[in-house]
Amino acid sequence: MMTKKLTCIECPKGCRLIVDVEDGKVAMVTGNECPKGEKYAVSEIENPARILTSSVLSQGFGLKMIPVRTDKPMPKSRIFDAMNEVRKIRVTTPLKSEDIIVKNFLGLGVNLIATRKAE
Ligand code: SF4
Repeated sequence: MMTKKLTCIECPKGCRLIVDVEDGKVAMVTGNECPKGEKYAVSEIENPARILTSSVLSQGFGLKMIPVRTDKPMPKSRIFDAMNEVRKIRVTTPLKSEDIIVKNFLGLGVNLIATRKAE
C-alpha cells in the first residue's frame, strides 16, 4: 500500500486528498469534500490524462509557430510520443482558431487543433 497526496482541481476549493493506492488502484480517498474529489483521484492515479498544449512550425506565414492543443485530455503516458509527433508537423495552409491540424491524433480519439489563426 502506498499513500499519495493530490490536490483536487475540480473546483476552486482545492481539497487536499490523501489517496491510498494498492497495485496501481485507488483503495481509499480522504480529504475530499464531495464525491468529485474521489473521481478525480481515481482518474489521476489509474488513468492520468492531460490536455496537451504546444506549438507547431508553419511555412509561408508571418507567424512561425502556431499554438496548438488537443481538444480533449489525452493519456499522460503518451505525452512524450505526442511531442515527438508535434515536432514533425509543418502547417502550410491558412488556419482559423480551433481548426483541426491532425484528426484522431496518434489514434487516441482526440484532435490536435490550432488555438489561433494563421494566414
Ligand atoms: S473534492 Fe469536491 S469540494 Fe473538494 S476541491 Fe474537489 S470538487 Fe471541490
